[in-house]
Amino acid sequence: MHKICGPNKLNSRSQHSAESPNFTTMKDIETRPPIILLMILVFTWMTLQCTKEEPFLPVLDIHPDFQPLVDLFEEEASKRGINLTVDNLILQYDTSLTQFICAECNSSESVNRVQKQILVNPNNRICWQYSQELEALIFHELGHCILRRSHLSDTLPNGDPKSLMIVGDVTVYAPCRYVFGQAEDCNNVFKRSYYIDELFDSKTPIPDWAK
Ligand SMILES: [Zn+2]
Repeated sequence: MHKICGPNKLNSRSQHSAESPNFTTMKDIETRPPIILLMILVFTWMTLQCTKEEPFLPVLDIHPDFQPLVDLFEEEASKRGINLTVDNLILQYDTSLTQFICAECNSSESVNRVQKQILVNPNNRICWQYSQELEALIFHELGHCILRRSHLSDTLPNGDPKSLMIVGDVTVYAPCRYVFGQAEDCNNVFKRSYYIDELFDSKTPIPDWAK
């Protein structure tokens, strides 16, 4: 068996060099650094070619039904001193959503590296009855997609949801759907300002009506 291993090769070269230095050996020594340098440059170039990112061009495509709500979202942000422009969003109806999903945001990743998309179920009319409920639904999804907020199931001292980011409840500041007793007792529209405050600032103090 003809076995070649590192140490023997080194010894062989070492012996050969010691006994009879020649031009071939010197040439090897002289040319190797440029070859290695060239290999490094080629490798680096190939790596850069592989890792080069395409420029991200966000799409803004909002269904006319929802444009006023996106405008209002920006306005509410501005009222609270937050300079916010929604420029990366696809917001459309999607008939393929199951009947249990009213809407969904695809990503709460940092803005402008991922195309944000909110799909709304056009068939599920139980999702909203009042304009406040549709607003709460879209604001909740914008909370995910634009504000990068997660779901929050905490409650206020009076038992109401602490946040619009609660799962599956678009009625937090809507009028009552079914009135039992006095209608004014279940008109929650006055709670809206708190929930919008909290959406943009999760540190918003507990409102008096919830204590
Ligand atoms: Zn959600």
